[in-house]
Amino acid sequence: MRIAIGADHGGFELKKLLKDLLKKRGCTVEDVGCYSPEAVDYPDYARTVAIMVSEGLADQGVLICRTGLGMSMAANKFPRVRAALCLTAGMARSARSHNDANVLVLGGDLESPQVAEAVLAAWLETKFVGEARHQRRVDKVGAMGGTAVEMAAVAGVDPEIYDALKHEEERENQMIDLIASENCASRAVREAQGSLMTNKYAEGYPGKRYYNGCEFVDVAERLAIDRAKAIFGAEHANVQPHCGSSANMAVYFAMLQPGDTILAMSLAHGGHLTHGHKVNFSGRFFKVIPYGVNPKTEMIDYDEVAALALANKPKLLVAGASAYPRILDFPRLRAIADSVGAMLMVDMAHIAGLIAAGCHPNPVPYSDFVTTTTHKTLRGPRSGMILCRAKYAQEIDKQVFPGLQGGPLMHTIAAKAVCFKEAMEPAFADYQKQVIRNAQVLAAYLARHGMRIVSGGTDNHLMLVDLTPLGVTGKDAATALEKAGIIVNKNAIPFDTRPPAVTSGVRIGTPAVTTRGMKEAEIEKIGAWIVETVKNVADDAVLARIKQDVVALALQFPIP
Ligand code: PLP
Repeated sequence: MRIAIGADHGGFELKKLLKDLLKKRGCTVEDVGCYSPEAVDYPDYARTVAIMVSEGLADQGVLICRTGLGMSMAANKFPRVRAALCLTAGMARSARSHNDANVLVLGGDLESPQVAEAVLAAWLETKFVGEARHQRRVDKVGAMGGTAVEMAAVAGVDPEIYDALKHEEERENQMIDLIASENCASRAVREAQGSLMTNKYAEGYPGKRYYNGCEFVDVAERLAIDRAKAIFGAEHANVQPHCGSSANMAVYFAMLQPGDTILAMSLAHGGHLTHGHKVNFSGRFFKVIPYGVNPKTEMIDYDEVAALALANKPKLLVAGASAYPRILDFPRLRAIADSVGAMLMVDMAHIAGLIAAGCHPNPVPYSDFVTTTTHKTLRGPRSGMILCRAKYAQEIDKQVFPGLQGGPLMHTIAAKAVCFKEAMEPAFADYQKQVIRNAQVLAAYLARHGMRIVSGGTDNHLMLVDLTPLGVTGKDAATALEKAGIIVNKNAIPFDTRPPAVTSGVRIGTPAVTTRGMKEAEIEKIGAWIVETVKNVADDAVLARIKQDVVALALQFPIP
């Protein structure tokens, strides 16, 4: 076992003894100081040992000061560190077996050499057995510590923003988020995004920058590019777009001239604003022919898409959606594009995580361009990306920078690299399968209780729920659900007769709740609360009662 040991002047003598004992037990000991009885500052030694444990450079740590209190306080500031002051062998056994403590703290003034030796022996001989109740509690401690560390500096500088951040943290932990485009990014993603790579200007691309000092941001961007290409089997990846909209803009501006024709799914049937809506740049610069779903099946009518393509000869066919619950037929879309000599762009923003995990067909082999956000099912930082065939690489890169953007957000690119690494783990595929199972369980529950699921169900992470049978608008349902602690968005259903600010439906998605660990049993409970809420939109007493249950469940599944 690798042990990092540190002490201030108050623990200097005891450290010598403990070092010998550790070595006798076969441990590899790294002594980080202090090396004389001269007065020093205990946080400096706590910091070194805690970082070694936090980053896995040591399996465990030992810290000693006069009372052990200062060392404990300092070491516990670090993520993944559980430092325990142990005055007796019993405390040491509990700290290991219940709390999975990984830094033993001793009080040089409080413990005789004999007691310290017994404490050390008990510590080394006790294992954390990982009983479910202890593991759950240790996980909760871990979740708290990290957030506090993330926000501690803000608290010192800007109490108002700290207050807003704390409230947002509380809101996210207490509410059930069913917004289909949201997720909970991992701590690792958030740390990378909040890192000092935000300081670096790096106009250009890895190895060809307009600024000096880019060697490490180059590492981050190359990793992000290589991982993205590997996950999706793409010939080229540009990881610099700031968001999904700017990724789409880059493809349009690189490949089209103002006035060129785009054939894309209409917003009213599930498409995105950037697919040609008149209030968006895409609708202002280009001639847009919208396609939609079949009124009977509520699924994309590929025959209609083919006919519209033939009639309008678009230069670009755009597929992908923000509110479409069915598998997209990429071979068919390619064939339609080819039939009129159009290029095919698939905006996989919503389903990128499902695709990365093999839970939805991959558009890359069929498309000229694939754009995405990285923060939805893919569960990365809020950002965008473009994948394309090698023959378009130069034009796309030139359009992103210098065409549309200046300096890339290197901290966000580092976070995208982390997200892609996570997406390559087997656990990510398990997660995406559960996302779909949860969506299907919820859709079936709501259908059994009087709601109409658009297209009869879902193949992916989301469903569109038509509330017309219950006589409630999307707006009123979403407002009531928020009062009950459940967050969804109102959403037009295909052929909706109500205006977009009212709508007949809500869009519901399961990525965020699944990240928090909720499975079928919790989803059925959520289904029951949604039904009761929608049937009682005007009854604040009912909504308040539901909210109590919602909060109790949500708190059992903390935000990672
Ligand atoms: N494309 C699709 C299909 C989307 O659903 C979205 C966002 O919801 C976007 C693009 C735009 O992404 P962003 O909000 O990052 O600009």
